[in-house]
Amino acid sequence: MAAALFLMPDEVNRCVDFSAKDVAAAWTDEPDLCSAISNHFSKYVPCVSNALSTSSTAPTAASIGKSKNEEFLYQHLLLEPLGWFLCAEDPETVLSHLSQSSQPPQLCGHVFHMGEPTYSCRECAVDPTCVLCMDCFQQSIHKTHRYRMNTSSGGGFCDCGDVEAWKHGPYCQQHRPHSDPGLPLDPVSLLPSDLACRARELFSICLCYASDLLTWEGVDSLPAKLRILSCSGTYCCMLFNDEVHTYDQVIYTLQKAVNCTQKEAVTFATNVDRDGRKTVRVGDSKQCEQAKNIIERHTSRGNHKPLKVCVMHSAVVAHQAFAMRLLAWLGQVISNSEGLRRILCQEGLRPGHDSENASPLGRLMLCDSHLWKGARNVYHQLLMSSVLMDMEYKRNFGMLFAKNYVRLQKDFMEDDHERSVSVTALSVQLFTVPTLAQELMTTQNLLKTILLLFYDQLKDQRDRNGHFQFERYSDSQDFHFRRMQNILSDLKFLLKCRPMEWNDLRQCFLDGFESLLELLKAIQGMEPITRQVSHHLEVEPEWETAVSLQMQLSPILTMVQDWCASDELVLVEAYRRSLAALSSCQDEGPMEQLILCGHSMEAGQYIVSQRPVSIHLPLSRLIAGLHVLLSKTGVAYQSPTLIPLGDMSPPSLIEQPLRCLALVAQERAGMWRRNGFSLVNQVYYYQNVRCRREMFDKDIMMLQVGASMMDPNHFIMLLLKRFEVFPMFGSLDYPRNIGSDIAKDAVQHNATLLEELLHLIIMVVGERYVPGLGQVTGEDVVRREVIHQLSIKPMAHSELVKALPEDENHETGLEAVVESVATFRKPGVTGKGVYVLKSECMKNFNILFYHYARTEQSKAEESQRKGKKQNGEVVVFPPPEMPPLLPMFASLENVLQADVLNCVLGTILHWVQDPRCQAWTEAMLQKVLHLVMMALQVEKQQLEVAGETESNFTFSLKALRPVSGWQSAAGSRGTSSPSMFTLLERLQNVTQLDAHKDCITWTLQLFETIQQLRRKSGHFPSMVEQQPKESPRERDKTECKRKAEMARLRREKIMAQMSAMQRHFIAENRELFKQTVGEMESSAEEGSSSGLAPVEVSSGSGEDACPVAIGPCRSGPGALGTGVTERGNGRRVMCCILCQEEQETSPTATAMVLAAFVQRSTVMAGTRARAALDPGAFDQLLMPADVPCGTHTTSCGHVMHAHCWQSFFEAVQAKEQRRQHRLRAHTSYDIDNGEFLCPLCQCISNTVIPILFCSHGDVGSWQLSFCSEEAQMFRQKLPLESWLEKLPMATWLENLTCRVSGLHVMLQRATEPGGLSIVEVPQGFRNIHNFGIMTPLRYSESMQAMLATFGTAAFHVGLKTHPNEQDPRVPVMVWNTCSFTIQAVESLLHEEQKPLLGSLTRRQESCLQALMGFAPAHQNTVPLHVQQAHFIRLFAFLTQDRKIEAIPSILQVDLFHVLVSSVICCPAVYSEKCRSLRPTPLSSSIDDLYLLHLVTMAHIIQILLTCETDESMELDSTSDACPEHEEQESIFRLHQHCMQLANRPNTTSCPWQLRQMLRAAVLPFLRCAALFFHFLLGAPLPSGLQGTGPEQFDLLCHYLSLPTNLTMLFDTYRETVDPLLHRWCNAEAVRSFQQGQMVVIRYPRKMNKMVHLPQDYSSLINKASRFRCPHSDGEDNRTPTLCLVCGTILCSQCYSCQAELDGEDVGACIAHSAICGAGIGIFLRVRECQTLLLCGKNKGCFYPPPYLDEYGETDQLLRRGNPLLLCLERYHKLQRLWHLHAIPEEIAHAQEANQSFTTNDWQHL
Ligand SMILES: [Zn+2]
Ligand SMILES: [Zn+2]
Ligand SMILES: [Zn+2]
Ligand SMILES: [Zn+2]
Ligand SMILES: [Zn+2]
Ligand SMILES: [Zn+2]
Ligand SMILES: [Zn+2]
Repeated sequence: MAAALFLMPDEVNRCVDFSAKDVAAAWTDEPDLCSAISNHFSKYVPCVSNALSTSSTAPTAASIGKSKNEEFLYQHLLLEPLGWFLCAEDPETVLSHLSQSSQPPQLCGHVFHMGEPTYSCRECAVDPTCVLCMDCFQQSIHKTHRYRMNTSSGGGFCDCGDVEAWKHGPYCQQHRPHSDPGLPLDPVSLLPSDLACRARELFSICLCYASDLLTWEGVDSLPAKLRILSCSGTYCCMLFNDEVHTYDQVIYTLQKAVNCTQKEAVTFATNVDRDGRKTVRVGDSKQCEQAKNIIERHTSRGNHKPLKVCVMHSAVVAHQAFAMRLLAWLGQVISNSEGLRRILCQEGLRPGHDSENASPLGRLMLCDSHLWKGARNVYHQLLMSSVLMDMEYKRNFGMLFAKNYVRLQKDFMEDDHERSVSVTALSVQLFTVPTLAQELMTTQNLLKTILLLFYDQLKDQRDRNGHFQFERYSDSQDFHFRRMQNILSDLKFLLKCRPMEWNDLRQCFLDGFESLLELLKAIQGMEPITRQVSHHLEVEPEWETAVSLQMQLSPILTMVQDWCASDELVLVEAYRRSLAALSSCQDEGPMEQLILCGHSMEAGQYIVSQRPVSIHLPLSRLIAGLHVLLSKTGVAYQSPTLIPLGDMSPPSLIEQPLRCLALVAQERAGMWRRNGFSLVNQVYYYQNVRCRREMFDKDIMMLQVGASMMDPNHFIMLLLKRFEVFPMFGSLDYPRNIGSDIAKDAVQHNATLLEELLHLIIMVVGERYVPGLGQVTGEDVVRREVIHQLSIKPMAHSELVKALPEDENHETGLEAVVESVATFRKPGVTGKGVYVLKSECMKNFNILFYHYARTEQSKAEESQRKGKKQNGEVVVFPPPEMPPLLPMFASLENVLQADVLNCVLGTILHWVQDPRCQAWTEAMLQKVLHLVMMALQVEKQQLEVAGETESNFTFSLKALRPVSGWQSAAGSRGTSSPSMFTLLERLQNVTQLDAHKDCITWTLQLFETIQQLRRKSGHFPSMVEQQPKESPRERDKTECKRKAEMARLRREKIMAQMSAMQRHFIAENRELFKQTVGEMESSAEEGSSSGLAPVEVSSGSGEDACPVAIGPCRSGPGALGTGVTERGNGRRVMCCILCQEEQETSPTATAMVLAAFVQRSTVMAGTRARAALDPGAFDQLLMPADVPCGTHTTSCGHVMHAHCWQSFFEAVQAKEQRRQHRLRAHTSYDIDNGEFLCPLCQCISNTVIPILFCSHGDVGSWQLSFCSEEAQMFRQKLPLESWLEKLPMATWLENLTCRVSGLHVMLQRATEPGGLSIVEVPQGFRNIHNFGIMTPLRYSESMQAMLATFGTAAFHVGLKTHPNEQDPRVPVMVWNTCSFTIQAVESLLHEEQKPLLGSLTRRQESCLQALMGFAPAHQNTVPLHVQQAHFIRLFAFLTQDRKIEAIPSILQVDLFHVLVSSVICCPAVYSEKCRSLRPTPLSSSIDDLYLLHLVTMAHIIQILLTCETDESMELDSTSDACPEHEEQESIFRLHQHCMQLANRPNTTSCPWQLRQMLRAAVLPFLRCAALFFHFLLGAPLPSGLQGTGPEQFDLLCHYLSLPTNLTMLFDTYRETVDPLLHRWCNAEAVRSFQQGQMVVIRYPRKMNKMVHLPQDYSSLINKASRFRCPHSDGEDNRTPTLCLVCGTILCSQCYSCQAELDGEDVGACIAHSAICGAGIGIFLRVRECQTLLLCGKNKGCFYPPPYLDEYGETDQLLRRGNPLLLCLERYHKLQRLWHLHAIPEEIAHAQEANQSFTTNDWQHL
């Protein structure tokens, strides 16, 4: 059936016959156009789709062809005639002409697709929903402003050109208006009139057709105009999307129901999810019903509603599909011309016959919640590109929308789709246009409508008092509430801009305000709580809903107050109405008389701890806000009579807030413990930064309002009463009563309550940073908050933002002020940049700042105390200077000098005198002193400003009089009671009060200052008792001295004790101490506490300034001449980290092992290809020159006994198996792959390396055989030249060739069937033994086992295959990991321009040491014939001898790998058949030397053949005589010679340049070789290698026994090398390279770098936003992920993009990393701005991205939206992690640290 799609003859014929032009022409003459077009649709629509829908049984193969075909048929048969009709000629020409001639639209209107970057200006945007697209932003003025960047979640469009969206710069360069904007032209008038006429007709018909069909509900009938022509009776089984069932459920069900494959089911599910519905089965109605039944049955399990399935006639489906297509087409057509757009708007909104709701677009809008996702999207798109782009019709549409607002929102409440696909989401486009919003408010009374709708939604949840009482949390309620939030956010949009002109708006706003008051009345006092006295609450009451409602309302209340502030009439009226509303909520109870200090008042008898009290008081708080506005706007002063208090008295105003504050104090005092956590939480939110602005802050404000209008004595009496501490004052009896009749915890409660009360008074008088209350600006307020946050500790920008309240635009105003109070400290490679408080701002620190939580307060105190001490200041925290109050609140200060307060303070000071008295606490005293200091400061200020005569603030005078109001038990009054001043002076001498001494002194000093001021003005009444005393300042000084002396003595004593202890300890633990010191030194670099001891370098000989690594003249431990006798001093002892026992390492002892991690690596890979997937596919022995995939070994350097490790590993294994079922996902290591964490440092490991030292050079017990005399002779110390004479390379090579070919024959015979016959030994076969042989070393059993363990691990990991000890490739993989690890280490050093010596970390050193010690020993576990076979192949390669084996050319192989392998495996050729022999150190030193020379020469040829010299380079003018010149010339000659041999055109290159090039190219090889031989044989590296200068080349050559002029090798060995040279240059492959048929590596080889990232993060986002999922057509991808290794963008977390890896389905990232990074993945998740590290199939972690904002912070998940710039240092750090092969380690650490988190499903990323 699928085939029919492409070649259906019927269709093809029809297409050929069909002429769109003719059809259109026929329509033009038709009188009834509508039925003509309908007929056409009836005829063609079903057959187009019929042809297509039948294919749905085979969607995968056909889907691409299908969409092409579908497109073609739609275009050709249906849309083209419409186009022809509209234009009357070729539509393309006409439309493009129209689009060219019409001016570019002034609105950009670019519709965002998901993931696209959006920009908003924090300075100029009217609100954060105003955004620009990237193009517009780049060309706008906001580029240089403070902007916010986000990624769009799809939908919404660019606001460029919308003058109402921007305070400045509404246009970008591109959309700047060209013509005079004063002339609004009707764009339709610019169209040719006949075109306009046809457009009107056509658009109307199309829109009606589309809205008819999309809203059509019949399943097997059609609207009257359309007939079902084809009576084939085909039906479709239509599956609908829902938000309940998962992808997997749907896929599973579909496989059952419609019998499709999994892939097909995935496609169906993806389509259903994307479009909202999809035909999953086509057939007769019975078949479809059957499928429907199965689907419903399968998905209705549990409590789920089944998936929605519908069986529909295929014609209905076809027409609906075409209707969607038609709307999209209309959108396209109108994009060409504003005139056409206008016509579409007119037709789309043209009222129908019955009502305006019957317009086509109106009908669609009202049906919105019944439509499927695809249909909604398509008409929303059309709305965006038509009515929302046209200011006039935006208004009309807005009206329609607002009229139907309630209905739409109610529909949405029931809708199971997200808001993003609901038409209600368009409110943001309409309500954020200020003029439109205000118009809708006046004409539609929208404010009231919305508030009523909101209230209506909550009405059912009220108790009998009309207050809300919310039910417990449930899913459906949560759903309901989340939907309701949208109503509130619409409200926020409406209120965002205050009006410039009120007029009619005034009444409508107040109407809305009235509805708001109704809502607030239902909240005021809701969910009251009563203190539990005897029992705990059994059920925690519901509290979250109420608090979250408050949180939601909070910004709206703030905005409403802003509105009120902008108009005097509105403000006064709103205030009046609020008061009326409040007074209707008051509960006046019985009254009682309060008397204290001669003051008396009436107050309600209410007791907080016994009666219900509510924390929800929005009405009171609104009044407090409005009251302050009266002062701020000046209304109160202009027309005081306008302010009616109504029947509210100040005490009744403050009553409820005061109760709430008392409740909070009692909660702190622990009196409400039995009420459980719900109260604790409510109190927390009450003061939390997110709520406090409309809760706690406003309550304090209300108290300030009240206090400013009341007798201050009454105010404090009321406070005392509500805090339930009233009875404590008025007499001195309270402390005496404590012992007798007051319960102990009541005393504690009372003490805390009193502390809280004092703090409250401090806040009421001192917290003046409210514009309208104190003389401050908004900036002052923010500045003060910032100072207090930074007083706690230096903070990052984001931390500060979180700690400050945000306005409705999510701005805190932080940036404007922070520079003035703090300095920015930049971050390092990790961490964040922070702001540090400037020291001059410390004086503004208020220790009792009202927004501090308790912990914050103590932290701030601690850090400020520290700061003061550092500056050498006295540690006192006097109240900072307070801003002056505005006149309306001026009387607030009188609270400080109220008699009642005087009494309270005096009484407490009196208690304090008696240290045994339990009534007071230190915190109480602190607050008393704070109040006294505040009062004195106020007085001082007033004296300074006003002078004595005018000031009526006389606190100090009152403080000198006896404390008022005491009626002691004895009844004595008056003179006997001391004054507050006296009490303070007495306290100075109480020793228990040391902590407060400075503070008391400071207070008394202030007293003195004020007295002086008063005395100066001659108005000072004689002091009561003024004796000349030591002045406080002097007293201070002596006190300080005394203290310092004491401290010094104390310190000295402690030091003496410490050192005595230390001496004792060292004497006792001498051994231990030594060890620790050693460890500390050795761990200085890496922080590992125990590592391999460094290679001991015997420095016996005098040549160690220039040591030599190889050859018979080798220096170091095994050097000839000294070696034999000097053995034994290198006893190496190590300590096992598991059992802490020491152990000597030797081949025969129990093995010690090193935890190690083997991984594959593409760090060096020249071509990252599928090689990494299957490393077995390329030759491992002759490693390709581009090292496509290496095997790397790392180690943490921790040493264990082999047996200790084994039992540890088994224990881990057992543990894992036990927990596998439950928590398997939690492990950071894969036990099945042998992974474990180092028991000491938790470093990821997957094997162990046994430790052996320099076995290759260890001259152990060697016995000479054969020509021992000759050998003896050679043992004499001779210079290298003489050596080379004695045994020329020619001889050596001849011997070796003989041996190798002999062995080759023998090996071949052995494998032949009857090949047991004795082989004729070729002549010279045993010459190789001439320089001595000996028996091989024996290894202990445990050593043998460990040798096999690591060998197998290298094989198993390196080749990604099953472990097999017998595989001949095992030794090869061992050699390879040696070579590759050295190469990787060297490359990194090279890249970082570090010298060879002294740059290795301890871990690297231990690891290389262990590897090179291990590799030669490992040979022991490998069968001889395997080793020999490998050597034969290596040798054949080196000599390019193709007679022996087929081998690649020298250009194709990495020669360092060849060097390492051949050196390690060369000793094998000494053995014969079953007789295992090994060369003496002398013999092998000769082999090493010549092998190195040979390989080096081959490498030089490799370089010369591949080099590319820059011809344009200037010839250097070195003089001909210098030795360099000689070298240059010989290199030049050699190059020429090679080129000739290779038949390569002779390029003329400059000799000087050649030399430079060669030296640079060969250097890495030399450095690698030096490292290799250093660790293999133990000769110390020359100390000169500490540098990286040109001298290192010569030093390396000397160290490696090479001439510094490397071409001399070719001269020295001329006769040997010449024949080789021919073969090296002549091979077939060399030629194929010359002809460009083969990619060849050039030297020096570069390590792979990570991709270049753009400086600006948003350009990355933009790039990624264009990325489409490659496997599902055109779908936006949610998580585009950039591979940082190669730059590919991948479709992560996508069902369609999963691939199979080793038989499992994995996500695109995992699949890619298997190829690109050999299992290691480094990605950037672009939309989240997170680095993703992956390892293997199921391990990974997130890592901070290398992008920082200007505050030095990363923004993971892009929550904050600050512009982000690339931080190169951090990116390099990440790259270094990769180059160090430390990614798996990083992941393991991260996973270990995050065990508690839900694990990510890494496999599917
Ligand atoms: Zn734009
Ligand atoms: Zn623009
Ligand atoms: Zn701007
Ligand atoms: Zn041990
Ligand atoms: Zn470790
Ligand atoms: Zn995809
Ligand atoms: Zn990649």
